[in-house]
Amino acid sequence: MNGKRAVIIGGSVGGLFAGNYLVRRGWEVDILEIAPENLASRGQGIARHAELEDLLDQLDVPRGMSGGIDVTGRTAFDRTGAIISRFELDQQLCAWNQIYLSLFERFPRAHYHGGHIFTRLETHDDVTTVHTSKGRSFEADVVIGADGFRSAVRQIVAPEIQPEYAGYVAWRGVSQEAKLSDTFRRNIFDHYAFLFMSGSQLIGYPIDGANGSQAPGERRYTYLWYHPAPDAVLADILTDASGKTYEYGIPPHLMRPEHAETVRENAHREMPENFHEAVMRADSTTVQPIYDVDNDHVAFGNIALIGDAAFVARPHVGVGVLKAGQDALALANALAECENIPEAMARYEAERLPAGKRAVAHARNLGAFIQRGLDSPMDDPSLNLPPERVIKVSGRPVEHMIEQGL
Ligand SMILES: Cc1cc2nc3c(=O)[nH]c(=O)nc-3n(C[C@H](O)[C@H](O)[C@H](O)COP(=O)(O)OP(=O)(O)OC[C@H]3O[C@@H](n4cnc5c(N)ncnc54)[C@H](O)[C@@H]3O)c2cc1C
Repeated sequence: MNGKRAVIIGGSVGGLFAGNYLVRRGWEVDILEIAPENLASRGQGIARHAELEDLLDQLDVPRGMSGGIDVTGRTAFDRTGAIISRFELDQQLCAWNQIYLSLFERFPRAHYHGGHIFTRLETHDDVTTVHTSKGRSFEADVVIGADGFRSAVRQIVAPEIQPEYAGYVAWRGVSQEAKLSDTFRRNIFDHYAFLFMSGSQLIGYPIDGANGSQAPGERRYTYLWYHPAPDAVLADILTDASGKTYEYGIPPHLMRPEHAETVRENAHREMPENFHEAVMRADSTTVQPIYDVDNDHVAFGNIALIGDAAFVARPHVGVGVLKAGQDALALANALAECENIPEAMARYEAERLPAGKRAVAHARNLGAFIQRGLDSPMDDPSLNLPPERVIKVSGRPVEHMIEQGL
């Protein structure tokens, strides 16, 4: 199918993976992205997997080029701050923007259209015309919705699928290593840490410095604290100082400062002392409401959904970037190897629909105790989540977990 055209809505990691894979398979690709500038200044940390390296290898991203801090395992801490379990696993943790930039730099700049909001599309004789807010239109044989969890493309092809709030949020922040105490740096910094508290859970780990440096003293520490937030509390968090409520997520600079203050107070009250700094010394506090997006289809005629537009698994599984890349590769391979677009779309859906469903189910299980207001995941033995298992099965590809019988 060389010479075919694809238009991708969404220029974050999913859209860029798909764009790069398709360009290398001879497709002409345009990416439309709301943000006028590249997204590199946003984003915090992600855990890398061997599977993610394989995806980057296919785009000739030299290993190490996209950064990363090596850790040798995961450590579980109890609510007193004592170590209760350890799982040896070599892994690399890196800043989200390192992955994003490796992909952005490889995609032909003239075909990345920042500042273009996708508005509508229409199809005639197998060709779809995609319109943007700037009055431009692009013709495509295939349209890819890579426009994240509130996907406008999904609204058109599957309007019944809506994000479901899980009843808790992830507070996030990043601290400069140089601002952390020697005690924190000695006892906590190098751990990929899972802290089990009453009704909540914190994950913390080191990532590259803002300039990409992995040198001691120049790195950063990121945390993600899953914390209950009933609907009314969430609505308040998502309301800015002028009284405007943002339905699915508030831009970080508009969150009222008292919420960050509450997070710090809660940290003082609920966290063991050795972890306070992760929260107290963070440069800023942001919030991510936790949603599930489950789905029954990812291909609709010549339109495919990938990444978070297709499925959102709560961050406990830590495979958002990986899944977006795997979706993109499966779609690009199907389009390159099948005789025609309908066949390629059917193959893509058969491959990736089950994977998306498995990730959502696994993530729901990992977060169920917070959603249900339990004190600890062990309060319900049917969840099968003792700390030693949580640290093994979180943040790892679901297929791998199944293969290992976990
Ligand atoms: C700025 C940013 C920072 C992130 N930081 C992290 C992180 O630190 N750690 C982590 O694990 N995950 C992070 N994520 C999420 C992670 O990228 C996703 O979970 C996952 O990788 C799936 O990516 P995606 O490309 O499918 O969706 P997303 O990354 O959500 O990207 C969707 C893109 O579509 C664009 N878009 C939406 N609607 C339209 C429209 N109508 N027209 C044009 N464009 C549109 C959005 O602006 C966005 O760039 C971040 C996402 C973003 C956008």
